[in-house]
Amino acid sequence: MTTDPYLKTDLYDVAIVGYGPAGETLANLLGQAGKKVIVFEKEESVYHAPRASHLDGEVMRIYQSIGLAEKIEKVTIGAKGYHFLNAEGRLLTELVRRDGKGPHGWNHHYRFHQPVLEGLLRKGAERFGNVHVHLCHEVTRIEQNEHHSAILAKNRKDGTTRETKALYTIGCDGARSTVAKWMGTVKRDVGLHEPWLVVDIKLKRQVNLPNTGIQYCEPARPTTFIPYVGARDRFRWEMKVLPGETKEELEEPERVWELLSRWLTPEDAELERAAVYMFHSTITERWRNNRLFLAGDAAHQMPPFLGQGMCAGIRDVANLSWKLAINTPNNPTGYTLSLDEMTAIAEIARENHIHVFCDEVYKGLEFDGNRLPWFADVYENAVSLGVMSKAYGLSGLRIGWIGTQNKEIYDKMIGFKNYTSICSSAPSEFLSMVALSQL
Ligand SMILES: Cc1cc2nc3c(=O)[nH]c(=O)nc-3n(C[C@H](O)[C@H](O)[C@H](O)COP(=O)(O)OP(=O)(O)OC[C@H]3O[C@@H](n4cnc5c(N)ncnc54)[C@H](O)[C@@H]3O)c2cc1C
Repeated sequence: MTTDPYLKTDLYDVAIVGYGPAGETLANLLGQAGKKVIVFEKEESVYHAPRASHLDGEVMRIYQSIGLAEKIEKVTIGAKGYHFLNAEGRLLTELVRRDGKGPHGWNHHYRFHQPVLEGLLRKGAERFGNVHVHLCHEVTRIEQNEHHSAILAKNRKDGTTRETKALYTIGCDGARSTVAKWMGTVKRDVGLHEPWLVVDIKLKRQVNLPNTGIQYCEPARPTTFIPYVGARDRFRWEMKVLPGETKEELEEPERVWELLSRWLTPEDAELERAAVYMFHSTITERWRNNRLFLAGDAAHQMPPFLGQGMCAGIRDVANLSWKLAINTPNNPTGYTLSLDEMTAIAEIARENHIHVFCDEVYKGLEFDGNRLPWFADVYENAVSLGVMSKAYGLSGLRIGWIGTQNKEIYDKMIGFKNYTSICSSAPSEFLSMVALSQL
């Protein structure tokens, strides 16, 4: 139970819009950091159609940091590289992917089934009571002022709307990001827009298919083949759509089986899905507008050939999360004690004859200006540390101080100081006094 008045308000530390792999990972990272998080996702469940099939050791390392790597590794298969074959089946070149553990302590590359991965990430976020997930809620408007961001979300089941305030809002809402729209950012087109048919199958019986990835560099129809998409019986083909072909005709099961006939028949496998995707290459110019941020596909999109679209999004949120964690609500530890908590700690210390050393270098930056007493004023055996560098922004003075009511500790510290190199300059002390007298 917390007595911090801040945590009792309706104000969240972070609102996450969109619960795909980027949003799910961010919810885990911030949940673990103890942040008060709200998530809005417009769909009722995980997006059923697999998209990403490859992740790397760096992403696994991030999953390790949220305690999910072992679980996730169980639903992956170590990935080999690609053979690039020409139309005659001759090897043109090879993308070699190293086996074994890499510098992150995990395999270099893995294959997985995106809906399964997302299921584990969502289950992971359920560990944190401070993460509140609202599915079926579409965010329609976002505003911000100097104090917070305000998010309007519509419940798609009953049509009601809800306004929420959060110190920061992160748009993990994919390629058609609403957050990006409200931020007024500009998307830069890097020049690739190609329609490709993506086909996922599950084997019904043993079939002799290649066990390595293949890029069929065939001008008649460039095709990517991906084995073991998270399971030994799941395979994928990505086939370039040719001029004149339509999405409707290509997604027809008869046409899909015709295209797969070189490898499989309907007796061999079940078609999990066949969908034409437009592969884009874009980057959003600004990923931050004051209290609003973008991450994942909302900030950048790339064609899937390197298997890095989702990985880049996971790196975005890993990078963002620790910065959000240390900057919310308003100090680098992310938390200030309440007076009740200070008094309770002092009581425990008093009963057990404990001295308390309290680093209070951020005093003066308390949320809502709710300034607390120095710990040394609350407890007779406490030592408080203060400095000019943080709250006062006067780091150049290199002046700090300690305060205590305990004369014995005070004298010992003064005596000990004679044996150290600590020596304040007189002008700095004078300037500090001038600055403090202006408060
Ligand atoms: C065929 C294909 C293959 C791919 N292969 C790979 C690969 O091998 N490796 C790899 O790393 N990447 C790959 N990618 C890319 C990868 O799938 C994406 O980069 C990744 O899914 C993006 O994750 P995200 O969380 O940023 O966005 P998304 O997964 O798009 O999630 C965004 C979420 O936001 C929700 N949302 C949107 N608007 C709102 C709103 N207004 N309110 C509330 N919720 C909202 C959406 O419903 C969605 O759930 C591939 C992509 C495709 C299409």
